[in-house]
Amino acid sequence: MRLGFVACGLAKAEPVAESVAAHYRRWLELGYCAGMDYLRRNVEMRMQPDLLVPGVKTIVSLAMNFMPARQQPAISLYAQGKDYHDVMRSRMRQLMEDMGLEGRAFVDTAPVLERYWAWRSGIGIITQNGGFISVPGYGPTVFLGELFLTSEADHYGSPLQSSLPASCGAICPALTAEGLDARRCISYQTIEHRGSFPTGFHLGPTFYGCDRCLRANPQFAEAHPTDEPAFQPSDDLLNMTPDDWAHLTEDQYQSLFKGSAVKRAKYDGLMRNICCWLSS
Ligand code: SF4
Repeated sequence: MRLGFVACGLAKAEPVAESVAAHYRRWLELGYCAGMDYLRRNVEMRMQPDLLVPGVKTIVSLAMNFMPARQQPAISLYAQGKDYHDVMRSRMRQLMEDMGLEGRAFVDTAPVLERYWAWRSGIGIITQNGGFISVPGYGPTVFLGELFLTSEADHYGSPLQSSLPASCGAICPALTAEGLDARRCISYQTIEHRGSFPTGFHLGPTFYGCDRCLRANPQFAEAHPTDEPAFQPSDDLLNMTPDDWAHLTEDQYQSLFKGSAVKRAKYDGLMRNICCWLSS
């Protein structure tokens, strides 16, 4: 597709299934959202799309392949290039303009159950291991975005049937039967958490994010490099060594991660991660 989307599906903008809403509420009650308090807010809006966008009739789920062709091994795959929020939102706005669509575009910044809508629209399956959406032919290395449109569609997608086996939650103690316990998740700790790490916390190969459950996902075998330039790492990032990371200055950080999602951790947070990573 010219704008870089690898999948597109339409779902009727109805309230989400009661079983999904109950599962989400239970997940919150267990405290699994850790310090991400925004996930506790606007729960009703998350479950009922017309509370977010009055008059919404159709939810369009779009996916972009983010698998980079080359990788800086210390950074999670999704964050090797430019910030997907910016890249994807501008492509989605372009799509709306090109097609004369009325509505709003969301990329991971509004109370939207994005994987649920992607599944409902038929663009992918929700995998058991880490709750990824996996798009046939691309695997779980995809970003999702949603268009909330106020017009009806002629035809809506249907969820894909999966014959794939449920994969193990045993790969990581953060993956429980009730969902991801963010408190025990390296991704959460290195990206969202502010302050010191819990006692006994160790890092694996990455100091920003964690790809262990993504790579262990059986559908990861379908992932293949995107030719999207925005999601490729710069040569400067590729050339960074452990010694370079240990001596990263704030000016270098600003230039290395200009326009990157890595900035979410801030310089102090990233240096906390790097110190822990070097001593793990
Ligand atoms: S991202 Fe890493 S720490 Fe978090 S659930 Fe997956 S494997 Fe576990």
